[in-house]
Amino acid sequence: MMSKAWIEVNLDAVAANYREIVKLMQPGARCMAVVKADGYGLGAVEVAKTLQAEGCEAFAVTHVGEGLALRRQGITGTILVLGPSTPEEWTEAIQEDLQLTCSELSTVRALSQLGEELEVAVAVHLKLETGMGRTGFLAPELAQLADVLKAAAHLRVMGMFTHFARAGQRDHKYSELQYSRFQAMVADLAERGIEPVWRHVCNSAAFLDHPQWHHDLVRVGTLLIGHYPNPSFAARLKLQDPWSAKARIVHLRQVPKGTFVGYQSLYRTKRETQLAVIPLGYADGFGVEPHLTPQGWVDLIKIIIKNIAALFGIFLGQETVELHGTRIRVAGKIGMQLTVLDVGMVGCEVGDEVKVPLRRTLANPRLPRIYHKEGRKFSQRHIQEGFLTLNPEYSN
Ligand SMILES: *Cc1c(COP(=O)(O)O)cnc(C)c1O
Repeated sequence: MMSKAWIEVNLDAVAANYREIVKLMQPGARCMAVVKADGYGLGAVEVAKTLQAEGCEAFAVTHVGEGLALRRQGITGTILVLGPSTPEEWTEAIQEDLQLTCSELSTVRALSQLGEELEVAVAVHLKLETGMGRTGFLAPELAQLADVLKAAAHLRVMGMFTHFARAGQRDHKYSELQYSRFQAMVADLAERGIEPVWRHVCNSAAFLDHPQWHHDLVRVGTLLIGHYPNPSFAARLKLQDPWSAKARIVHLRQVPKGTFVGYQSLYRTKRETQLAVIPLGYADGFGVEPHLTPQGWVDLIKIIIKNIAALFGIFLGQETVELHGTRIRVAGKIGMQLTVLDVGMVGCEVGDEVKVPLRRTLANPRLPRIYHKEGRKFSQRHIQEGFLTLNPEYSN
């Protein structure tokens, strides 16, 4: 069956990005691939399987459920759950050999107790709060934490980590402050007899900016999916974008100049033109922007001008799509599941493919995904069930 809208993910590009990252790693460090939020929208299992085949041995997710899915689909390496977990999730997480993050004393105590009941050593990572202001132990809690850990015979401290709030910014001072706090906290715990197997602090941006902070693991997500956390990083390593969303024109009509288009009639054609409809909208993650926070005066002025122009029906920075290699503007408001394009007199017909800039982490999970590997196409099922080299007949 021919899909009307779908997502293509090139797993060879993900593998190539991984190899680029590994080249920049300090000796002794390993890459922990962060595949949270369904692998940033690419498919967590598919990305993890690809990386596992490349030799990646450690993965991280936010929630226990995400970790269980990886384990059940054949990921054999370390799987760390970065976010807080709840007692109902623990037994299954431990049985499936997920490593859990502890950010408070009650969790440390309860997991140790559970380890005793299950007669296993529970592998945990201690999250240290150094300036993100989200989760983690604070410096004054460490003395008590050390006491609790010494009594916790069934816990194994696999890791100590922290997370940077401003990595990737040109000004490194805040990251340096966070790093010095981390080092001091780790030293404090060491003095109290608590040492981790691994230390890890770097996300993608810190990995590139601070090689001396690689330690045992670097937690990289953004770079794997081919994004630069900051455009200046493009000079450091060559990444490929593995992801594209596509839709077919499902309706096409020639209209005269002056035709109103879409909700609130915000758009009016300026000449005789063709309007094409594609079956994608904000319910699929199209045209959904995160809240814009100005990063300085220039940014603020840009945002103000953009909003004033919108008041007069002029859409600056309006979404564009790509049709036969040509940039095409969206006409009017993006609908829930349908979007109108002002294609001008570009030759096209119903059924033609359009490339659409969907936000990948918000892309509708119901959109079918087609995976490219070694020049062939596979459905999600092929990859998940391990039929990578079988039945490559998937077509779209
Ligand atoms: C998301 C996340 C990462 C990965 O960050 P990127 O910038 O995407 O590489 C690392 N560590 C933690 C705790 C995270 O939540």
